[in-house]
Amino acid sequence: MNQFHVADAHVDVLMKLCGSDISFQADDQRLQANFPSLTAGGVATQVFALFVSPDADAGTQLHNVLLELAAFYEQVATLPNIRHITSRSDLRTARQQHQMAALLSLEGGGCLRGQVEILHMLHHLGVRGMGLTWNDANELADGCGELRGGGLTRAGRAVVRELQRMAMWIDLAHLHDAGVRDILRFTDGPVMASHANARAVHAHRRNLTDDVIREIIRRDGWLGLTFEASFLSDKPASSDDVLRHLDHVLELGGARHVGFGSDFDGTSNPVAGLSESRDYAQLAQSIRERYGNELAHRILFDNFEAFLLRQLPA
Ligand SMILES: [Zn+2]
Repeated sequence: MNQFHVADAHVDVLMKLCGSDISFQADDQRLQANFPSLTAGGVATQVFALFVSPDADAGTQLHNVLLELAAFYEQVATLPNIRHITSRSDLRTARQQHQMAALLSLEGGGCLRGQVEILHMLHHLGVRGMGLTWNDANELADGCGELRGGGLTRAGRAVVRELQRMAMWIDLAHLHDAGVRDILRFTDGPVMASHANARAVHAHRRNLTDDVIREIIRRDGWLGLTFEASFLSDKPASSDDVLRHLDHVLELGGARHVGFGSDFDGTSNPVAGLSESRDYAQLAQSIRERYGNELAHRILFDNFEAFLLRQLPA
């Protein structure tokens, strides 16, 4: 057993559990991040994103977010080997009991319709992180695919203030550069990006500039590199491309601030050999050989653990 602990800051498995007959517990090939695969990959921390298509109206989006929360509470958090984490003390309990730490994040704030009260309710339901947008624009900000390229709206600023007040993490993934710039201007605390790569290595709108990566590091935030092939390389991507992005973030000084957010069950272009959670076992081996045990442990697990211990409420 040379199992490494792995932390993964982004999967979209809840979306696939909704309105389907797929069981999270089963080793069902329709899921990249089902429970047997996560376990085989050594995943000890998993953030489950609440994602709904921004094409739907806000009422439908909120309805679907609630269905995904139901899937989490009924299929994920009920498993004896999993603990839903909403605080640092939950996290410590999960470690003592060797349970997988499961956290909830909101990917895109269209369901809020600009109202912080909805955010308060999601916080009550155990959501601990949020990205303001997906690729489109909403009431809060423009996503990276919006041609207008606006920053945060007044409502977006109010949401950011509430995220800080409630100790929820601010996720920069999917946001337009203008919104990223606004968040860095309006806040001074840690920020994170749950699933994005380095734009200097592969020029893609979903990847982060060196300036932003340096700022994440300077603020003691965290960056999760992601396995979506189109964010990794122009050519057909392999796990070596993940290591190229990792090398770059390490060169920028990210040894204590980098990890992974796979985007399993959200990606449409999986990487060969890195297409389901169980493939972390092989990636962990490659990282250990390339960087040594100590740095490998930080990258694979401990950096995100330390980020959670800084970010979560007591
Ligand atoms: Zn995403």
